[in-house]
Amino acid sequence: MPDQQNILIIGAGLCGSLLALRLGQRGYNVNVYEMRPDLRRVKISAGRSINLAFSDRGNKGMKLVGLQDRVKDLCIPMYGRMIHDEQGNTFQSNYSGRDHEYINSVSRGQLNALLLDEAEKHENVTLYFNKKCKSVDFERTTALFQDLETNSDFVEDADVIIATDGAGSAMRQSYFSSKKFLFSFSQNFLNHGYKELSILPADNGGYKTYKNALHIWPRGNFMLIALPNLDGSFTVTLFLSFDEGEYNFNNLTGEEQVLAFFQKEFPDALALMPNILDDFFRNPTSPLGTVKCAPWHYKGNTLLMGDAAHAIVPFYGQGMNASFEDVVVFDSILDTYEGQWEKVFAAYEATRKKDTDAIADLAIDNFYEMRDHVANPMFQKKRKLEMALEKAFPTLYSSKYALVTFNEHISYNEAMVRGRAQDKAILKLLSDGKLNLDDDLKSLLDKVNEKTEAILRDDRITGFI
Ligand SMILES: Cc1cc2nc3c(=O)[nH]c(=O)nc-3n(C[C@H](O)[C@H](O)[C@H](O)COP(=O)(O)OP(=O)(O)OC[C@H]3O[C@@H](n4cnc5c(N)ncnc54)[C@H](O)[C@@H]3O)c2cc1C
Repeated sequence: MPDQQNILIIGAGLCGSLLALRLGQRGYNVNVYEMRPDLRRVKISAGRSINLAFSDRGNKGMKLVGLQDRVKDLCIPMYGRMIHDEQGNTFQSNYSGRDHEYINSVSRGQLNALLLDEAEKHENVTLYFNKKCKSVDFERTTALFQDLETNSDFVEDADVIIATDGAGSAMRQSYFSSKKFLFSFSQNFLNHGYKELSILPADNGGYKTYKNALHIWPRGNFMLIALPNLDGSFTVTLFLSFDEGEYNFNNLTGEEQVLAFFQKEFPDALALMPNILDDFFRNPTSPLGTVKCAPWHYKGNTLLMGDAAHAIVPFYGQGMNASFEDVVVFDSILDTYEGQWEKVFAAYEATRKKDTDAIADLAIDNFYEMRDHVANPMFQKKRKLEMALEKAFPTLYSSKYALVTFNEHISYNEAMVRGRAQDKAILKLLSDGKLNLDDDLKSLLDKVNEKTEAILRDDRITGFI
């Protein structure tokens, strides 16, 4: 590393704290400014995705900083989706036909705290809390902060500023409003928002429903999901339209309506949630959106990373994983161009942007899959076939989900291109009656591969990929 350069990181969330740790390990002088109080000392209010699905791409980040074993202690394996139908029946649809492929439920707070603790062990990393970035002067490489304890403003200078301040990034806002360069920006909201609820632990401290799955109550236009926590509780999230359909967030205003909605749509979940009204009326209803923008960097001065550069909807369980993978990609580019910030930032964006665009689009696809398609018989047939292929040919077949989630050595974009073609191939063959699931698996695999290759060829010719 060239002589002790000063790096200013805005935001000590999941991405910022991992980045601070890694740059600290590399020997940089790192100063991190976070708007909120220190979450290790103050309980941060509920209602903000308390737990998250953590998987192989995120774990690459943990391996990079040597924390993979420590993170395991915070994880609860989830082997598949536990689907709860309208009659209260359940069935599990595993994430993969390979036993070692599963995702994990991890506490956002505990994971963030672990990363902050490890970052702070480095003398050259300093964390500041209650300091809110108001704007960034990217030409001068300075940031304006408000100290929320003293209510005074101050300016910080650095060699490089990296903003990991999440979906509402102050630095991205400075890029946008400055009009000093061509900055493209889009923010697309779903018509659906989310609200967090909870299933509390059983009286004996155990889990009230099966622990090792991601529970889903798919209901076509809306859904409920639940992920386990280490203390025996589940964090439950309701995804519902703000204003469409018989029930929506705008008309669920009284206790009676909320109970009637849950009684009608999720009676088995309601039976596990005697605390529902408290949760429903205490926790906020928040929007869900996708942010895309470009460029992510201004010369060699400033860079956006994590949700600040590419916020996505949560339906692939990949936002945090993608943000951790950002740090891994960034680190490998530093290996090549260390000391030449403009080259580092440009190469990082050129490498990474198509992948974060891909996971943003895949996450929207999965919104429809989770709330609706998982209950569709054709989709279930496809999943059954894919599970059988993965089990029988562990090195020859991976579903789109497995490509995205468990094949961290290929990029999101490659996973998307191949995965979508496979999905199309299987659904087309099934709907044309050309796949008899009783045939031997090798001949089914050959048919799926042949059709997939034909689709990929067509897509290349028409310029779709
Ligand atoms: C409901 C929901 C469920 C999700 N589930 C999953 C999941 O299962 N798996 C998964 O991988 N991802 C999931 N995500 C996505 C994941 O939460 C984000 O992708 C991840 O938190 C991004 O990390 P980040 O550090 O970039 O941003 P954040 O975690 O948002 O961190 C940004 C930090 O910057 C601070 N900050 C903000 N503004 C300022 C400012 N002006 N000045 C100083 N500091 C500031 C914030 O306080 C925060 O600490 C989910 C998201 C939501 C909303």
